[in-house]
Amino acid sequence: MLVVMAAGATAEQIAAVCAEISAMGFVAHPMPGPTRTAIGITGNRGPIEQAERIARMPAVAELIRVTAPYKLVSREFREAATVVRVAGVPIGGPTVTIIGGPCTVESREQTLAVAHSVAAAGATILRGGAFKPRTSPYAFHGLGETGLQILAEARAATGLPIVTEVLDTETLPLVAEYADMLQIGARNMQNYSLLRAIGRSNKPVLLKRSFAATVQDLLLAAEYLLDAGNTQVVLCERGIRSFDDSSRFTLDLGAVPIIKQLSHLPVIVDPSHASGRWEQVVPMARAAIAAGADGLIVEVHDNPAFAVCDGRQSLVPERFEVMMAQIRRVAAALDRDLTPQP
Ligand code: PEP
Ligand code: MN
Repeated sequence: MLVVMAAGATAEQIAAVCAEISAMGFVAHPMPGPTRTAIGITGNRGPIEQAERIARMPAVAELIRVTAPYKLVSREFREAATVVRVAGVPIGGPTVTIIGGPCTVESREQTLAVAHSVAAAGATILRGGAFKPRTSPYAFHGLGETGLQILAEARAATGLPIVTEVLDTETLPLVAEYADMLQIGARNMQNYSLLRAIGRSNKPVLLKRSFAATVQDLLLAAEYLLDAGNTQVVLCERGIRSFDDSSRFTLDLGAVPIIKQLSHLPVIVDPSHASGRWEQVVPMARAAIAAGADGLIVEVHDNPAFAVCDGRQSLVPERFEVMMAQIRRVAAALDRDLTPQP
């Protein structure tokens, strides 16, 4: 349920409503808006019997029943779009944010070279995996802490904040020491203990949609993060599994406007993993921005033929630069600019 306070409600009146909600055994989430404050209620299993008591409190304008199973991520709870800040770089809001970098950190030279090229092309966040979830147990699983140190060096050299994946609760403290943004991969989207642990951290989160998850599953996974206290969450559409094997996954671009309607959280698109081949990546990147995505996460490699992981879908730096120029124009058609570099 959502308690909408009257426009002139005082801090004391808002606090009194929150206290009443707590006294009923529920959790109050005050959300100040431009004109008035709304207070979300979670923790109730069904309709709140004592709702009338809240409705009669001073400065309460209205009670709204939230019908979606997810609450804190829903537009019903918070109308204004959330802007997530990754070491000062915004995702969501009026600008379009591009994250670029290698699938995985292979070496210092490779990571620094790619980091410099994506920065020069206008990306504002650097990606790179140090802990890699791989389908095969025999594949390369990342450089671990050495990879995180290389990413930190690339951040120092370029000024770009870094996003990197966390595989489990065990390595979360280590990854959080280095990362500006924690990535939850498609394979971990429904790892609820990991979601809760990352929800308790204060780092921005990039939550990727599982390739077998509905939009509602994704929003409920995000709800775990917000319920645990972390409101800095960006959602990512990265392709779902379909019957068609002409691309690695099937990019569900229709999900972008739907998620924007259902949730206030920013949404970005990963055209690289969705496609699995570089030829599809730039057209899908253009389409994603045209569909209203708040940004992209794109894999780039300076020598894709020799990439340890996902070379087939990686753009060479020159192609990434072409993509950036085209994205700028698509964004401009929607009155959006690319996010300026930090
Ligand atoms: C990645 O971004 O490196 C990755 C492994 O993606 P996904 O979790 O979407 O497969
Ligand atoms: Mn990859």
